[in-house]
Amino acid sequence: MNSLTVQDYVNQQAELEQQAKEAMPWDPKACTYPLGPLKQQVFSCLTHNNIGICYSCSIRCHTSCDKVELFTKRHFTCDCGTEKDNRIDAKCSAYKCEIRKNKEADIAAVDNTYGHNFKGTFCNCAKEYDPDSPSVMLQCIFGTECGEDWYHDHCIMGYSEEETKDLIRKSKNESTEILLEHFPDLDSFDSFICWKCVSRYNYYFQRIMSHELSKDIIACTLKRGKTETEVNENGKRERVDSDIPFSIFLKEDYNKGFENLKNSIKDEKDKLYIFLTQLAPFLIRDVELYEPPEEEKETVMDIISKSLADSMNRSDLVLGASAFRGLQSRLKEFLKPFAENGEVVKEEDISSFFESSN
Ligand SMILES: [Zn+2]
Ligand SMILES: [Zn+2]
Ligand SMILES: [Zn+2]
Ligand SMILES: [Zn+2]
Ligand SMILES: [Zn+2]
Repeated sequence: MNSLTVQDYVNQQAELEQQAKEAMPWDPKACTYPLGPLKQQVFSCLTHNNIGICYSCSIRCHTSCDKVELFTKRHFTCDCGTEKDNRIDAKCSAYKCEIRKNKEADIAAVDNTYGHNFKGTFCNCAKEYDPDSPSVMLQCIFGTECGEDWYHDHCIMGYSEEETKDLIRKSKNESTEILLEHFPDLDSFDSFICWKCVSRYNYYFQRIMSHELSKDIIACTLKRGKTETEVNENGKRERVDSDIPFSIFLKEDYNKGFENLKNSIKDEKDKLYIFLTQLAPFLIRDVELYEPPEEEKETVMDIISKSLADSMNRSDLVLGASAFRGLQSRLKEFLKPFAENGEVVKEEDISSFFESSN
């Protein structure tokens, strides 16, 4: 099979567009510093003081630095070009942040939480993120105590990776993820709160768990560690339950459950009421995730689609499969430097690419 049907072509075009999107997901033209603390994608720059920076600055200011993607943090202000940023690139620029073009360092936000993720380590075991590890990793959505850390499934259970070798069970749906015996099925819960956060706010979580509405909120809890037993004064072994730290797995729509729970509390001075409205309002209403502007991306995709349609017409709706794959990988290569240098892809660039490809 050396040529493609129209349907193949359309399918492959979608794949191509996806690749282009991954190479250039957003237009890196705005730094989020002026917007203040946001829930946003954060990157840590290990080259410069382990500061947390926004998506655009990771591309345009700390271009060739050693960076770690931290996924999202809930309340974070970009520290590129602030007094925390020790980037001195006298050779390229006089600006502290290439996007804000400030010549003096800006004041750093005082309420940024710098947990160990910013050093490039994750979880209780403080390991670097390993994309090849089959372990499931979950982010704590509470995060007040742990800095919204990410945890390995076995670390949530309180086992080392070695100790879980016997607990491995194959996933139902042929996925590459390995599931551990006694760990909740990934589709049985929506979100996760780590044992550190639960322990820190134990009073509130105990009250939530003993409330009748907890059936709409909590999918399950998971104690840490091996079955812990202790010898009491009479020499009998007995389970100690009260002090074993545990994590909480939340049901889908837990927001609604927390809202109903809050509404059921009539006394606004009740500690749980204050907890739900002041300390952890994100349990009731998730903080909106900031996403960089996308307009340019749409334009790029439109141009690519149009150019592809043109070249499709020119080749009588059939394009050699290998030719298409070649085009795909060339386009990917073509887009890479744009993403790396934070340059915006313009219509001329795309047209010249397709002209040179025909
Ligand atoms: Zn920034
Ligand atoms: Zn840097
Ligand atoms: Zn910057
Ligand atoms: Zn771990
Ligand atoms: Zn936590």
